[in-house]
Amino acid sequence: MLPHSRAPRGSYAAEVRLTVSLRALFIDGVHSHDTWPETSRVVRAHLEQAGIFALEHVRAPEPEQFRADFARFDVVIPYYCPVPAAGRDPAWPEETRVALDRYVRAGGGLVIIHAASNAFASWPEYNRMTGLGGWGGRDETAGSYLYLDESGRVVRSAEQGPAGHHEPEFEYAIDVRAPAHPVMAGMPARWLHCQDEVYGNLRGPGLGLEVLASAFSGKTRAGTQRHEPVVMTISYGAGRVFHTTLGHGVRALECTGVRALLQRGTEWAATGRVTLPLPNGFPTEHALSTSPVPTT
Ligand code: ZN
Repeated sequence: MLPHSRAPRGSYAAEVRLTVSLRALFIDGVHSHDTWPETSRVVRAHLEQAGIFALEHVRAPEPEQFRADFARFDVVIPYYCPVPAAGRDPAWPEETRVALDRYVRAGGGLVIIHAASNAFASWPEYNRMTGLGGWGGRDETAGSYLYLDESGRVVRSAEQGPAGHHEPEFEYAIDVRAPAHPVMAGMPARWLHCQDEVYGNLRGPGLGLEVLASAFSGKTRAGTQRHEPVVMTISYGAGRVFHTTLGHGVRALECTGVRALLQRGTEWAATGRVTLPLPNGFPTEHALSTSPVPTT
């Protein structure tokens, strides 16, 4: 019997402990969602629970002051989204921006979660790394819209318009579009996700981008009525970017499917491989599954 199968179903205890220790830099401190201290805690708990990351947590409340030695890490997770205000788009210092670009180009891993895709609209390299983004004043100059048609084919549209949209939160289905990708391997073709936003009308350079999963934005008439990318990868130089738009609130982040995506996506960004098994009790097409994070 494998060690991970000893954990009781639904347990949040670590289901597997590997000897690998991947160095991960987690950056927070500024965010467009007021709930970020709590959601950040849940994301970090998921990463710790995977048992393979040595997580270094840096809180950077002043974007202009943030500096980091990215090269010390296998993967960087900027859980970070300054909000432009009064014509000013708070940015990291140029030396930090150049360092992140060099780090990813040289083969580093980057993980983008939910609103982090909306950060730094005026930083071209960040937008190439994230592939797609929304809000922050983005429009057609940011790049094409990217969505999927009914047959699952990726559509890129250069039509004019703003970037970034979501309906109210609801439970919805995630459609796996790249079942052979290491992050998605073993997941049901469709699985239910806990209450969350569906980001839509995202636009960006979209270079080297592969859509791993989508969701339909159309529960209400306010939706885009399109299959929107919700999990994707971007290749950038020799680096790997894992990007999910899922995870608006704690309820969304406590979906067992999202836990798996964050853990496996971060491992993939760090190494290009996935050794973490799917968690016990993974959601199905008909059943939600949650992984509540213990409060400390
Ligand atoms: Zn949100």
